[in-house]
Amino acid sequence: MTKRNPFEVAQKQLDECAQIMKLDSASHAILRVPKREIHVSLPVRMDDGSIKMFQGFRVQYNDARGPTKGGIRFHPDETIDTVRALAAWMTWKCALLDLPLGGGKGGVICNPKEMSQGELERLSRAYIRAISQFIGPDKDVPAPDVYTNPQTMAWMMDEYSKIAGKNQFGVITGKPLSVGGSVGRGDATARGGVYTLREAAKERGIDLKKATVAVQGYGNAGYYVAGLAKSLLGCKVVAVSDSKGGIFTEEGLDPEAVHKHKAETGSVINFPNTKAISNEDILELEVDVLIPAALENVITEKNAPNIKAKIVAELANGPITPEADDILHKNGIHVIPDFLCNAGGVTVSYFEMVQNMYMYYWDEKEIHEHLDKKMTTAYHSVLNASKKYNINMRQAAYVLAVERVVDAMKVRGWI
Ligand code: GLU
Repeated sequence: MTKRNPFEVAQKQLDECAQIMKLDSASHAILRVPKREIHVSLPVRMDDGSIKMFQGFRVQYNDARGPTKGGIRFHPDETIDTVRALAAWMTWKCALLDLPLGGGKGGVICNPKEMSQGELERLSRAYIRAISQFIGPDKDVPAPDVYTNPQTMAWMMDEYSKIAGKNQFGVITGKPLSVGGSVGRGDATARGGVYTLREAAKERGIDLKKATVAVQGYGNAGYYVAGLAKSLLGCKVVAVSDSKGGIFTEEGLDPEAVHKHKAETGSVINFPNTKAISNEDILELEVDVLIPAALENVITEKNAPNIKAKIVAELANGPITPEADDILHKNGIHVIPDFLCNAGGVTVSYFEMVQNMYMYYWDEKEIHEHLDKKMTTAYHSVLNASKKYNINMRQAAYVLAVERVVDAMKVRGWI
């Protein structure tokens, strides 16, 4: 698979958008690079008594519209350029959903699969200590992402609160419910994606009750989206995969049973009564809906011509390279772009921030209704812009988001 530098991809997408909307050169120059980057070295005591050094980053891409917002990834292949790209995408994501937030992202190079809970806790606390001066409820608010979870967020919030000398629940989102988390945050990314898929299917005249779905990735987003595509939309989920491989059955899978199997065995592979399928082949299946829900750059110019799905819902960040994007568009495939499709997570994170400030917590029904409204509104504004200007869905999402960020920069007198 071609290795693309994700930040070059993000910049290329912005450049294309700048050309479409005839963006002024000052705004373009500001938006091409992050406003601030923090690089930290973290000494962490391991269980065997040794000290191991870890490298971490926090990128605050743009805060014209509000405090920067975005997750923290723990991944062995993390790079500063990946974090830059993801921080840029957070900026567009928050603007597109019209949240009063900017965009940021964090990352630590580590392999959580090889670390104990104690080691992960010490690493999480060390990371927050190192960046504590630069984050805060009205500065920069992290959240979970790849291989971080509510427990990670709880340790981080606790460390920050100790430094602040008081509880500071609002410093981070995606927390457990007992410490200021929001109901509905766990499946929010997937649920938001499912709402956009529902709207896309209406637009394309696809009956989702008869539709087949393949999901690449069975982490938080992938597992929930498989379940919700079945329970909310009535789709048949015929294939899912994780980093070890995939499974396929024409009969349709029970996402909950597959989740249980993965929890017990460490992978979805070898689930009873299914055929094995590779992580690459799952993308090329004859299905109505393909949902990449793992990592970036999985659909490239090499495999894009073989994609047969009618709708590709990008639940992962950056799964399609720009070259592949053109091919899918030419082949008439409806792509729901990542920073629209996966915006449900940050949207409920924003609700969590509001609830933390309010000290008053909503029920699940309220969260789902607010989320549906936000996602559906954003989907249709992108669709309308794509029709109005005759551009694809990603280009339309970019134009709307960039317009909003530029407007904030202009009224603030930055340009
Ligand atoms: N990590 C998620 C994302 O990429 C959520 C970020 C957040 O909740 O701030 O959108």
